[in-house]
Amino acid sequence: MAAKSRAKKKARARGYRARRYTRADRMRAARVLQRLEETYPRADCALEHRNAFELTAATILSAQCTDERVNKVTPELFDRWPTPASLARADLAEIEAVVHSTGFFRNKAKSLHGMAERVSEVYGGEVPQEMEDLLTLPGVARKTANVVRGVIWGLADGVVVDTHVKRISTLLGWTKRADPVQIERDLMALHPSESWISLSHRLIHHGRQICIARRPRCDECPLALDCPAASE
Ligand code: SF4
Repeated sequence: MAAKSRAKKKARARGYRARRYTRADRMRAARVLQRLEETYPRADCALEHRNAFELTAATILSAQCTDERVNKVTPELFDRWPTPASLARADLAEIEAVVHSTGFFRNKAKSLHGMAERVSEVYGGEVPQEMEDLLTLPGVARKTANVVRGVIWGLADGVVVDTHVKRISTLLGWTKRADPVQIERDLMALHPSESWISLSHRLIHHGRQICIARRPRCDECPLALDCPAASE
């Protein structure tokens, strides 16, 4: 039953047509982008990594977990299993022990192991670039694929919608949707494609530093003039 309703929800999300924006909406959004760029000129991915394999693994671990926690775990993970082939050979229980503190550790360990196995056996040890190939890796859904393609190869298929992007996009009046796929459609309709990768990184930084959940610091926010949710 739950699976049926999830499938219905997904189908509805896929059929969603992005919201229509007015010229005023677009001008306001452009001003916000400009201010975000000035405020966070070097905002990039907060997950520490040295290559596509490490970023894929770190992104899998980041589900329902902070980047800080993931960054505490990945040094040992990559030290013990530095390549897809070595991680594919690892004992599942040992991977579980290393990633335990990131939560959902059994599923995450299984995904890491499966991802490494497929990368080494099907893709010759290199994480594939194409979206459809990435989506065949265990534990890799569209959000993870977008992160890896954007950060490693500068390829933008969409906007990565995490909890900060979702919350701040709503506060800024950019979307009224709750589903990440639908939010992504709205953001893609509102912002030029060349800004999609940096937009997520900058909103994530903004969500950590100023527009903090439950205690946004509107009085020092550079977006306040264009934010309908700004407190007096
Ligand atoms: S003005 Fe306040 S609510 Fe709006 S983005 Fe800034 S901190 Fe968040």
